[in-house]
Amino acid sequence: MNIQNYINGQFENPISKEWIDNYNPANGDVYGQTPNSSKKDVEKAYQSAKAAFKQWSLTTLEERSKILIKISELLEANLDRFAEAESKDNGKPISLAKAIDIPRAASNFRFFGNAITQFASESHESVGKNAINYTLRQPIGVVGCISPWNLPLYLFTWKIAPAIAAGNCVVAKPSEVTPMTAYLLGEICNEAGLPEGVLNIVHGLGTTTGQSIIQHPGIKAISFTGGTATGAHIAKVAAPMFKKLSLELGGKNPNIIFADCDYDDMLKTTVLSSFANQGQICLCGSRILVEASIYEKFKEDFVEKVKQLKVGHPSKDTTNIGALVSKSHLEKVLNYIDIGKNEGGKILCGGNKVIVKNYENGYYLEPTIIEIKTNECRVNQEEIFGPVVTIMPFETENDVLEMANKVKYGLSTTLWTNDLKRTMRMSTQLQAGIVWVNTWMLRDLRTPFGGIKASGVGREGGFEALRFFTEAKNVCIKY
Ligand code: NAD
Repeated sequence: MNIQNYINGQFENPISKEWIDNYNPANGDVYGQTPNSSKKDVEKAYQSAKAAFKQWSLTTLEERSKILIKISELLEANLDRFAEAESKDNGKPISLAKAIDIPRAASNFRFFGNAITQFASESHESVGKNAINYTLRQPIGVVGCISPWNLPLYLFTWKIAPAIAAGNCVVAKPSEVTPMTAYLLGEICNEAGLPEGVLNIVHGLGTTTGQSIIQHPGIKAISFTGGTATGAHIAKVAAPMFKKLSLELGGKNPNIIFADCDYDDMLKTTVLSSFANQGQICLCGSRILVEASIYEKFKEDFVEKVKQLKVGHPSKDTTNIGALVSKSHLEKVLNYIDIGKNEGGKILCGGNKVIVKNYENGYYLEPTIIEIKTNECRVNQEEIFGPVVTIMPFETENDVLEMANKVKYGLSTTLWTNDLKRTMRMSTQLQAGIVWVNTWMLRDLRTPFGGIKASGVGREGGFEALRFFTEAKNVCIKY
């Protein structure tokens, strides 16, 4: 199935006439072509967005809200079709796409459809100066949204929904590795009555299409989720044009386990936080640090549980771990397993490719646990973004705090303990944008979402996202 760009409400082939292959990770087959859009395609999308902006920015909040909620309902009505497409494009188990990816994409539209009706700004009375200040929160104009392949529609819509709710028009690019559900979203937007040009979706490589978006002088803000190196490049290109930037980047998140935690709950959740979505979630707890007194028990129980995970074709109900997203990504992850071994790490389970019967060319890998000797080793410091975790014991709270923070990233942390004082102490000192205590990936869309250090700048979620997608203007009236 070939994919087309979605510009001004129409589906069209790229002006560039360039195409890239779209692979099915479950069997390695090419099953379609995706445009590799050029600067001219991006310009066309920009002009369409620019033309739509005036009217859309003046559309009432009730009307915008109604359209966003309609998109949400249509996504829910098409759950099976979207989940199948996501699973085929990405390799993730269809059960996961049905339970998480597509429902969350629908929630993103519903949430921001509602949030915009509640979004307000401040006023400040300048006492004694006979003046009142109020803040206008105005849409920026045309904004760019660029998203990665791991949670394709989920993260694509996490940006688009607040951008259009706030009255902007969008030029968006999904990952070239997983373009399918973004393509299908265009149809839904038309059916929901989203005016032409409010959302424009251009497909293609980061270095061509993505680069044209970030370089476009008329695109005044970029919301990006992806790798840290790409984020640094975008910041460099955007800075001289003073674009507003939100960068959600990589992570290498500690999962800190104290002996006083609810053990069974921790164990069950740790299997998920390690290997959900083949470990390809920026929030996965890929560095497991365990209090020494329970280390041996944890190690034994964790290995036993992980060995029970079933690697298989994404369409099977019995599959826990599907295929990795691409051949090159599989090779990258395998290379990290070798690095781990060379650094003296011990493979406690996994470590090998899996050949799934009838799908021998698919990109399957065993969930892998590496017992490491030092916090500094590469497999414990660099983002692998696959079904690979490291484990290591710690002695004291101070030790583990230092180990957890000694990494260039700062996205999320999970802390397992029932000690309230320790929770309070540690959550203030952990260097991360998110601290989960006795849970993982429990999301409330109103909360600020994002990382510090090499995990990015800016926050998404709730009113933070609506603030990002608007410019604050102070109006001061003397009376
Ligand atoms: P990536 O940086 O390679 O690509 C992300 C997107 O950027 C893609 O759409 C890509 O085409 C585009 N891109 C690449 N080069 C570009 C350029 N020069 N100009 C403009 N756009 C360009 O990342 P990926 O491999 O798709 O995704 C995996 C990464 O995403 C991991 O590092 C992961 O941690 C991160 N991630 C972060 C979060 C978060 O919320 N912090 C969430 C999910 C994934």
